[in-house]
Amino acid sequence: MAIMVTKSSMPEYEDYIKEIKPIFESHHLTNTGPLYKKLQHQLIEYLNVPYLSMFVNGHMALETVFQAMGLRDTGGEVITTAFTFVSTTHAITRNGLKPVFCDIKPDDFTIDPQKIEALITDKTVAIVPVHVYGSVCDVEAIEAIAKKYNLKVIYDSAHAFGVKYKGKGIGNYGDASMFSFHATKVFNTIEGGAVAFHDESLRESMHSLKNFGIKSEECVDKIGGNAKMDEFRSAMGICNLRNIERCITARGKAFARYNERLSGIRGIRLMKEQSEVIPNYAYYPVCFEPSEFGETRDDVCERLKKHDIYARKYFYPAINEMECYKNSDNKETPVTAEISRKVLTLPMYEDLTAEEVDKICDVILEKIERVNI
Ligand SMILES: *Cc1c(COP(=O)(O)O)cnc(C)c1O
Repeated sequence: MAIMVTKSSMPEYEDYIKEIKPIFESHHLTNTGPLYKKLQHQLIEYLNVPYLSMFVNGHMALETVFQAMGLRDTGGEVITTAFTFVSTTHAITRNGLKPVFCDIKPDDFTIDPQKIEALITDKTVAIVPVHVYGSVCDVEAIEAIAKKYNLKVIYDSAHAFGVKYKGKGIGNYGDASMFSFHATKVFNTIEGGAVAFHDESLRESMHSLKNFGIKSEECVDKIGGNAKMDEFRSAMGICNLRNIERCITARGKAFARYNERLSGIRGIRLMKEQSEVIPNYAYYPVCFEPSEFGETRDDVCERLKKHDIYARKYFYPAINEMECYKNSDNKETPVTAEISRKVLTLPMYEDLTAEEVDKICDVILEKIERVNI
């Protein structure tokens, strides 16, 4: 059987049916119903954050934060990374803001805080770092810069659901953090997302902006869109959240097996393990150094495909090499360019077994092992 790069976690069929049954009695399908409120409450507790607003998907959640903070159409510049999923950059651009790409650190792939200050101009309004693969950004250094220059910090935490840093939920850092609950993420509501924040004044605007800017029955005071999470997705979230510890533990086992097989191999570089972090094992990225490994990332990817194993060149191309962004005037991100050419994200999901990890690693190491014999 083919091994895909990911496989969505799902609850037992009966669990879901039980959870959605009340909807068939109430006919309350969307607009902040009881299941929305139940999941919101449970997530606030699980993520250990003060406030949480849930959305139809992570992208719209992120897009809405800029408007809620008054940054939309200000023409400001936003310092971010080109080593991410394109949603991060689109959310900035679609708000009439200009993404300014800062390079990343080669060991954990997050934004390099030492390179941020040189990019700050009098137009800079915010920093949008990404906890890419669930790797925690250098939140302290970023906060110090933001304070010094009075900038907002909005984290793309799409990969970091459940991650803790220094004993705190990752959603407590910065002014806001977006989580994605897309089917492929560690926790899913089919499609879905949320923003965590601690400034109470954002609460009303986040709520109304995802519901057409409606403040009350006879008052529309903002130009909002429609990005609400409905009751069926909330029910999926409630069911999946019940199993989240089991899911992360299972991922951790697959992760450890990969580490056993792939660490110490010449030409293979693994993601740095971070201290004071409780990880969520969201992804398993591997960098191939062709001069040492004897094969390029693309070679390995093709070889895996021949064995019906589908890894992903995630993230390639870098955002500032994409058709819609390659003409932007900032391209000096050599580490991003290099990593995006060398990285391969291996299959990682709750049901991935040790035998499957072994099979994947056998294929990856096939050539070297032959040489060593
Ligand atoms: C998945 C993802 C998003 C978008 O989330 P959706 O829920 O799919 O809209 C944004 N940023 C990153 C880094 C992602 O991986």
